This record gives sequence, structure tokens and C-alpha cells, in this order.
Amino acid sequence: MTQALPTQLCDQLPKTGKTHTFDRLVCKECGAEYPPAATHVCEYCFGPLEVGYNYDEIRRRVTRQTIEAGPNSIWRYREFLPVETDTPIDVGTGMTPLVKSNRLARRLGLKNLYIKNDAVNMPTLSFKDRVVSVALTRAKELGFTTVSCASTGNLANSTAAIAAYAGLDCCVFIPSDLEAGKVLGTLIYDPTLMAVEGNYDQVNRLCCEVANTHGWGFVNINLRPYYSEGSKTLGYEVIEQLGWQLPDHIVAPLASGSLYTKIYKGFEEFVKVGLVEPKDVRFSGAQAEGCSPIAKAFQEGKDFVIPVKPNTIAKSIAIGNPADGIYALEIAKKTGGNIESVTDAEIIEGMKLLAETEGIFTETAGGTTIAVLKKLVEAGKIDPDETTVVYITGNGLKTQEAVQGYVGEPLTIAANLESFEQALERSKTLERLEWKQVLV
Ligand SMILES: *Cc1c(COP(=O)(O)O)cnc(C)c1O
Repeated sequence: MTQALPTQLCDQLPKTGKTHTFDRLVCKECGAEYPPAATHVCEYCFGPLEVGYNYDEIRRRVTRQTIEAGPNSIWRYREFLPVETDTPIDVGTGMTPLVKSNRLARRLGLKNLYIKNDAVNMPTLSFKDRVVSVALTRAKELGFTTVSCASTGNLANSTAAIAAYAGLDCCVFIPSDLEAGKVLGTLIYDPTLMAVEGNYDQVNRLCCEVANTHGWGFVNINLRPYYSEGSKTLGYEVIEQLGWQLPDHIVAPLASGSLYTKIYKGFEEFVKVGLVEPKDVRFSGAQAEGCSPIAKAFQEGKDFVIPVKPNTIAKSIAIGNPADGIYALEIAKKTGGNIESVTDAEIIEGMKLLAETEGIFTETAGGTTIAVLKKLVEAGKIDPDETTVVYITGNGLKTQEAVQGYVGEPLTIAANLESFEQALERSKTLERLEWKQVLV
């Protein structure tokens, strides 16, 4: 399984961006440039690397019409994504519904609330399918035959599934205490699954060592610059689905902070190439109190993030040492947004609220985001008239443990009419009793 190391692959890369719209990696801190290889850290200042594009070329190639005529997936935005091939891995990822909220909006007192529903993203029901579709397409281009990741759950599902589709070997790493749905939802694709006795940050540290020794394509380590670009499509799609307009305010969950910062980059790019009119968009972020290093830094007005040990039911966003934390802080500050945290009890309430009002069963990360949305509204930090988009990033069927015991029970009955009528009567009685309790 051992193969050429990423540094060796570097020399085999095409040197110009003639047939594609990206041609380099750029250090976010010092601006040093590198060829677009499997590398993610600046050799001079250790800053993170990001893909650099030729926006003049993109502007020449892309219009609203060319995008609308493209595939019904993230690949309709392929000129904005860091791949060279004309046949990217397309498993139907992206173009998830943007739902105009009625009942949740009314409950919260908002008039223009939209839900971007990645709980139904393909193929594994979370936004991670976006980043993995891009990362594995690039991994194949760079010559990798084995792909891997350090995951809080959804990334493992997505990497294993899309690797299976693409015919890549796959070995993924998760903390050993994940929800059953996340573990089973990885194993079904038959990867090698390493359940590490430790938290995500320990898993990630181990994976950095493995990436150095095995020459595998780690989607969120040595392929991170490509991987993270996939999240920009959450920005593009919202603009297109709002009828080629920017919203006024977005609320998104933060784990490493990557998704949040890339929605920002997506908005910026569409303005830059003239696809949408510029407008100030406020960026608000959501964390679980049991793992809220970015929210804490924001509340305390700091421009750095102090790592924490995660302890929350929102495992998919439990990253104690967030790689893009400082960039998320910058964006929240400069756009006039807020980064808030909520308790595990509020997260469960958030999951139930979204399900009861909109028919969307989201996982704990979505519960966190809805609970923060509610908190921001109650604190007067969201204007009722603003066009607000809340990003729901994962599916509730994967984190059933979180709501076990917090939802009703089925009424088990005999297979006859009498038994049904009795049960119905009982259920009504119960309902009336509950109603009286609310009244007193
Ligand atoms: C991974 C994940 C996030 C956030 O990821 P970032 O590391 O901040 O990009 C949000 N929601 C869900 C469901 C996730 O799996």
C-alpha cells in the first residue's frame, strides 16, 4: 500500500494553469506560493496553504447561464474548484434544498428565514460529501491510490463511501466513542476503520504522523487545501437558490472553522467575478458549550483560540483545537456577526424544534445551529426582516442516541379496533393533561 510520497509527486505536476483555473497553493499568512501538490503547510512560516485561482480566466469562462446549464451537483461550479479533470467524481453531491421556513420562522419571530438542508446531501447525508467529492477527485489526479482522514464521524462516512465509488483503497480514523450510526455508516463501505482511544484532536495528531510515513492522501491533512474548497459550494448554491442574491445573515456550525470561512470565500468569489451584486453579509457561528473554544475567544474579544478538551453530545463538531479558528474569528468580527455556544440540553431542544416545525431531522450539529439561531434572535442580534440562512449540515438518523428518551413512545396496541380506540382515548387524555399543565 506504500506509495510515492507527496513531495515526489510535486515534480510531476503540470506547471501552468492553461487548461484549468487554479495553478498554485498560497500561504494564508505570508503569501509564499507552491505548486498545487499534496501539501498543506508553508515551509517558511508554517501557515496553512490555500488554493490560488486565476479569476480573470474564471470570469471569461463562467456566466449565470453556464452555471445553470451545468450538472445538478457541486460540479456546476467546477471552474471554482481545484480539479483538472473533465470527469470529476460526481455522486450527485450538492444542490440540496434551500427551504423557505414558515413555521420555524414564525415561532422565532423571523420573516425571511431559509434553511440550507445538507441533512439530505448525497451520498452520506452530511455536508462532508462536498469536501470529500473534491478531495478524492484531486487525490486521484495526484496519483494516490489509498485515501484516509481523521474524522469526527461524518467525514469517515463520506470518505469511505466515495472511495468505494471511486475504487480507491480507504483507511479512516475516528475517536472510539462515536455514535453507532456513524460507525456502522462507515463500516458498511468496507474500509479499514481505526477507532482510536482518544478524542478527535488526538486522532488528528496521530493521522499527521501517519500521513508523513505512509504517503496516503489524507483528505483533511495533506489534501486539506483542496478538501476545504468543497465547502465554498455551500455559498454558491445559496446565492443561486436565492435568485442570484446574497443573504443578509448566515448562521453556520463551527468545528475546525473551515466550512464557515469557506462559505465566506464562496460569497467573495462570486462578487469578484461579477456573478452577484456585492452586499454586506453578517456571519454568525454556532458551537456546543462543551467544546466552544472559538465562541469563547469571540466572547472575550480575543484574536487567538485556546484549545479545550471536548465534552459534548455534538461529537461531529467537537474539535478542541480548531485549525481555522482564528480565521473564523476574523470573519465574525469584520462582518458584525456573533459566535455563540449552547448547552447539550439546548442542542436537543434545537433538534426537536427543527423537526416539529419544518419536518427536518438533523443531527446534534444542526441542533446546535438551531439553538444558537434561537439564542441570537432572543438577544436581538438577528433583525426579523433580514434574509437569514441557517446551515443544517448533518442528518439526525446518525445520532439517535442524542434524542433517545427525549421523544415520545409509540402506543403499542392489539390488532383490533377496540384496542386502537382505547389507545386513542388515552393519548387524547394525556395530551389534555399536558395542555393543562402548560396553562397553569
Ligand atoms: C464536520 C462538520 C461540521 C463543521 O466542520 P468544519 O471543521 O468547521 O468545517 C459541521 N457540521 C457537521 C455535521 C460536520 O460533520
